Amino acid sequence: MKIAVVGTGYVGLVTGTCFAETGNTVTCVDIDQEKVKKLQNGKITIYEPGLEQLFERNLKQGRLAFTTNLKEGIEGAQIIFLALPTPPGEDGSADLKYILKVADDLGPLLKDFTVIVDKSTVPVGTADKVRERVAKGAKVEFDVVSNPEFLREGVAVEDFMKPDRVVIGTNSARGRKVMEQLYQPFVRQGNPIIFMDERSAELTKYAANAFLATKISFMNEIANLCESVGADVDSVRKGVGTDSRIGKRFLFPGIGYGGSCFPKDVQALAKSSSDVQYDFKILKAVMDVNADQKTRLIPRVKEYFNNNLKGKTIAVWGLSFKPHTDDIREAPALYNIDLLLEAGATVKVHDPEGMENVKKLVGSKIQYCETPYEAAEGADAVFIATEWPEFRTPDFEKLSSLLKAKVIFDGRNLYDLSVMKELGYAYYSIGREVVH
Ligand code: NAD
Repeated sequence: MKIAVVGTGYVGLVTGTCFAETGNTVTCVDIDQEKVKKLQNGKITIYEPGLEQLFERNLKQGRLAFTTNLKEGIEGAQIIFLALPTPPGEDGSADLKYILKVADDLGPLLKDFTVIVDKSTVPVGTADKVRERVAKGAKVEFDVVSNPEFLREGVAVEDFMKPDRVVIGTNSARGRKVMEQLYQPFVRQGNPIIFMDERSAELTKYAANAFLATKISFMNEIANLCESVGADVDSVRKGVGTDSRIGKRFLFPGIGYGGSCFPKDVQALAKSSSDVQYDFKILKAVMDVNADQKTRLIPRVKEYFNNNLKGKTIAVWGLSFKPHTDDIREAPALYNIDLLLEAGATVKVHDPEGMENVKKLVGSKIQYCETPYEAAEGADAVFIATEWPEFRTPDFEKLSSLLKAKVIFDGRNLYDLSVMKELGYAYYSIGREVVH
């Protein structure tokens, strides 16, 4: 099939590349000229494990192309995916300006029956709005289908190639048939394509993200309670996670969730609910808990240094909002860095993939280091913000020799308490005993 993907960010580039990988001819469109130029020159624009190889192969074999020109990009396409941003507006609702602008532009450009697919995370009713806007300029028939994306950054290619499920919202038999055909290679192992109406599909995406965010915030509250009552969250986690109704995943406490999806999607769902006079109480609590949790270790840091961080150097390990991505949107690390700087500390950072993006945002207020050890050299403490695998088993002997004092504030519970005790570290983590 010939496919166009409008918006070539984290979702668009993975979507386009993976559809090309299954033999389709894909053109990705983006308004960011620099991004498109890079991609046309064979340079990948995001870090996502496994993506580069697929990107290079499909580019070389002529199944993947990039353009800034919408008309050129959709020429001959049977399916047009919208993988555009839906950032939070001032009131917390998803801002649809990018989607609706492209919908306006698409109408007059359609030459034949086309299926237009919302892949962005959009509030209930967006498919209707897109249909209305396209219809204004269109002279041919078209369908609008909702196909929310569930990929996780860091394992996006795997998630896209072997999805747990594909959700497709459409009431059109024609649209359904085209989508079924397109996704067949991705569900060969028997995972389902779940068809439903558009509104339910739109809500499914928000329900999934809000549920996962709730699971995280719930476990973070249990961890906080553990600290107050002298329980150990690792034991509690294992004790509850083995219940098959609860499951082991998404139960690890830490300094909160971040990223481009959970924060904005929980907020948008809360706003959509209040727009229809539904008071979604749990979501408010989830947002409150996460707002506090992100910087939960900062009072500990201040207390440790007798409320005086002036002249202290903190090595921050991890900047991206989670491991295996260079995405720093809403990353808890950034909130903590701000507070450390505000308190007068010097901050040295290391992240395997996120440093370039942080440099663009934060600039020279912090020092960027090539390795975690370089960041630790001469520092008064290490602060762990992201659970990159390379931080899990550092050379503690080397680390101890580089640090001014053996102190770790661990926002991701990477180390065994017994190991920290043995090594003589002061060790603060989440929901567990403090090691002095
Ligand atoms: P992104 O910001 O990485 O990419 C969006 C791209 O759209 C950018 O490259 C931007 O330049 C481009 N764009 C903006 N206006 C355009 C226009 N008029 N024409 C062409 N291109 C235009 O965003 P993303 O992370 O890929 O997210 C896209 C959507 O997918 C959002 O709704 C998001 O909530 C959803 N989503 C994201 C993830 C994720 O993990 N990132 C997962 C599932 C769903």
